[in-house]
Amino acid sequence: MKFGGTSMGSAERIKIAAHLSVEQHARRPVAVVVSAMSKVTDLLLDSLRKAEAGDQADLDANLKLLNARHFECCRELLPANRQEAALAGVHALIGEFSRIAKGVMMLGERPPRSIDEAVAVGERLSAFLIREYLESQGVPACAINGSEVIATDAVFGNATPLMEQTRERAARVLRPLLADGVLPIVTGFNGSTLDGRPTTLGRGGSDFSASILAAALDASELWIWTDVDGIMTGDPRLVPDARVLEEVTYSEAAELAYNGAKVLHPRTLAPLIERQIPVWSKNSFAPEKPGTRIVPKIESARGPHAVTSMSDVALLSIEPANSILSGTKVMARALGALARANVEVLAITSSSYRQNFCFLVRQSELERVTEYLEESLSLEFAHGYLKPVEVNRSVGLIAVVGEGMRGTPGLAGRIFTAISRQNINIIAIAQGSSELTIAIVVHKDGLNAAVKAIHQECGLGGAAH
Ligand code: ASP
Ligand code: MG
Repeated sequence: MKFGGTSMGSAERIKIAAHLSVEQHARRPVAVVVSAMSKVTDLLLDSLRKAEAGDQADLDANLKLLNARHFECCRELLPANRQEAALAGVHALIGEFSRIAKGVMMLGERPPRSIDEAVAVGERLSAFLIREYLESQGVPACAINGSEVIATDAVFGNATPLMEQTRERAARVLRPLLADGVLPIVTGFNGSTLDGRPTTLGRGGSDFSASILAAALDASELWIWTDVDGIMTGDPRLVPDARVLEEVTYSEAAELAYNGAKVLHPRTLAPLIERQIPVWSKNSFAPEKPGTRIVPKIESARGPHAVTSMSDVALLSIEPANSILSGTKVMARALGALARANVEVLAITSSSYRQNFCFLVRQSELERVTEYLEESLSLEFAHGYLKPVEVNRSVGLIAVVGEGMRGTPGLAGRIFTAISRQNINIIAIAQGSSELTIAIVVHKDGLNAAVKAIHQECGLGGAAH
């Protein structure tokens, strides 16, 4: 079971998380993965930036907030006779963070591996707190630092697990606890390299930690507790009649996550596929609701299942100035540059390989993208073989996702018609031949209306249920 930031966000929430864990633990062995309390990771990262800038006063203010949040939680969570020891524990962990922050301040630099070590303190604090609470309730539990269990490569800030070594570590660290009926509480988000240097798995990576451990322990199920009822047909803030999906496939869930649905960290499903471990996405604020089950395959998939959207993106177009250059080579060079920049391409399309091709990236990565592109195509630009890269920030991406779209004739036509009925111009379209996702780029102003129109046209709303 994995509890996210809001599910660990206060003493009250931690009690609920503990009870949900214990309820299942009474039936079968459970391992728990926790996120930092909501907003804590942001606060820690911000503190390190302040430290790097030499901003002592702001750093102190942040540390004070951090202390206050966890001290208050301790007070509400634990009986009087456990307070002192628990406060000392919290203090020690925050002390570890402050020491790294001080080092950063002295260096005037934030080395990636120090960031990874420091930022995991958020998860270590929440794991510590829920462990204290469980113990106070007479439930044997043990807080485990994820760096002891999850083995990763050395890509600090965005590490990838080494599954075989993680299996060995999990067998050594977690199995004996499970066998003894002790509830292990593992910190999400972090791991370590084979030689023990601390790493993290990327923002929102606790989901990924949970799926890595589920795979490493051959779990029969993974439950991911969040603050929404499950995976929905659309963003309920945009589409009021959006409903929770009972079941989606791994591929659908991954597509939705990569295309902006916030329910799951995009890399979560990969470790589970080989062992076909089913996942439940559930709401810790309404645990009686069934949630969404994520499964390897759905037999009776029909039509699209969900629509997501993303703003904060930019569409880049590259266009040869004449036909001297091979379009294929230009594409290869451009994609090579993106790969070196370690940028995620959200969609890519071209109507003719000799002409314009365009691709979509996150605005946050735009600067890196243009820098790398300019570098690797500098000669072509200088000699005028390529027109200057066109960057359009006023766009949004819509993804319509569903296994059942394969072989549903007329669907794309209906979707495009629904969009144009709203007088929204379609800027680019991409559909892989797997037909799992249709990606549509429209002007930002029309994004929400287009999402609504598609949701309705595809009958995804509550009425269809
Ligand atoms: N606490 C980390 C973050 O905010 C990991 C997570 O919540 O999954 O990114
Ligand atoms: Mg999270």
